[in-house]
Amino acid sequence: MRYISTRGNAPAQSFCDILLGGLAPDGGLYLPETYPQVSRADLDAWRSLSYAELAFAILSRFIDDIPAADLKAICDQTYTAETYCFSRHGGDPAEVTPATRLDDGFFLLELSNGPTLAFKDMAMQLLGNLFEYVLEKRGESINILGATSGDTGSAAEYAMRGKHNVRVFMLSPHGLMSPFQRAQMYSLPDANIFNIAVTGMFDDAQDAVKAVFNDAAFKAKYKIGAVNSINWGRVAAQVIYYFKGYFAATKSNDEQVSFAVPSGNFGNICAGHIARMMGLPIAKLVLATNENDVLDEFFRTGVYRPRGTAETAVTSSPSMDISKASNFERFVFDLVGRDASVVRQLWAKVDAGGSFDLSAMPCWQNAAKYGFVTGKSTHADRLATIRQVFERYGRMIDPHTADGLKVALQFRDPGVAMVVLETAQPVKFEATLQEALSRGAERPAALDGIEQLPQRVEVMAPDAEAIKRYIAQRVV
Ligand SMILES: *Cc1c(COP(=O)(O)O)cnc(C)c1O
Repeated sequence: MRYISTRGNAPAQSFCDILLGGLAPDGGLYLPETYPQVSRADLDAWRSLSYAELAFAILSRFIDDIPAADLKAICDQTYTAETYCFSRHGGDPAEVTPATRLDDGFFLLELSNGPTLAFKDMAMQLLGNLFEYVLEKRGESINILGATSGDTGSAAEYAMRGKHNVRVFMLSPHGLMSPFQRAQMYSLPDANIFNIAVTGMFDDAQDAVKAVFNDAAFKAKYKIGAVNSINWGRVAAQVIYYFKGYFAATKSNDEQVSFAVPSGNFGNICAGHIARMMGLPIAKLVLATNENDVLDEFFRTGVYRPRGTAETAVTSSPSMDISKASNFERFVFDLVGRDASVVRQLWAKVDAGGSFDLSAMPCWQNAAKYGFVTGKSTHADRLATIRQVFERYGRMIDPHTADGLKVALQFRDPGVAMVVLETAQPVKFEATLQEALSRGAERPAALDGIEQLPQRVEVMAPDAEAIKRYIAQRVV
């Protein structure tokens, strides 16, 4: 299996070669040269597999440069009942992503039972083990640098804690995350995890990180790497739970299923698109946005118009407050018939701060065959949906899942199960739960009192030079 760039001007590479990097050298994103195809016989054989076995079966189709026995061991080590133990609803932890039936043909797929209670653990935990394995083989090390407003940074830290040859330097906006999110990150005792709270907003932290990445000499000398959502390994890992969810919601492989996905950077739903391209019987991919509706607008009109940060609303589903969907280029590459020269032209406009319009292109006529339908959800919708689900099913959902569920209800078809992806647990967004239900959010008992643990964090100005010095002093 070789990986090619969506912009067509980078050499094809194998899985381990692209694992530790980010963008392809030509600025594009990596995708498999062709999508592996899953037969009816495969589906029949996979239906009864455990999560770790299914992960191995699927990842084997994408990874041919790790010996099978090693890949199997990595899957077994990653997808354990101990790691995904935080179901609040008696979901069997051995299932890793248990599905709960809300109504006939209406399911929640619990993707947020991992250590940081958000779906990003599903892929990041695998990445942690893959990184450690590949770095060890190559005798290399990496210093991961990132900025987070909450979910990504904590998922990265919990995935990389204690890993050999890996350090994590994570910037977060000082005082702006919820007390629970702060406790999650800052209470980690591991010596390879460094939390930096910058005095400023998330964008200031992000700009400081970008400035460090732009210093090519520093980046090379200190082996600076990233684990952002464009990483192909993360997308590949997310394909697994679409299969698991399909099996949970059906009795036979003759049935179809639709998935509803709370979306921001188009990473989660991109994995759904790939599962569908592989032959998983998915009817609709329901893409839900919040007030930041760049993707909803595209699927309705053919116009992709990324917004500037000033135009990006701060909402109560903050992990979807995205104005530029970093994985979207992968889907557009397929949509334009995998013509890299077209992608280059389109992203020349995007990278110059502009937009593009596909509505007059012949490929737009075929867009419907990819199964996407979209809708948006507002703060009032989130509150109403959280209330409605609590009253009807006795179940607390987080604001992102509420966005997905609200839009899912617009697209149910008779005889086709609808699976809503639960992307986070409510305790991470306590204030919105209070507003909706006038009571505190449920939390897994094992995390009681996490706010009282000692915290380790360095408060700094969002100054790239100071951050470089901080890193240099800690990398030997
Ligand atoms: C990251 C995140 C999303 C958005 O996922 P994308 O892959 O960026 O589309 C939705 N909900 C939660 C809780 C998240 O953490």
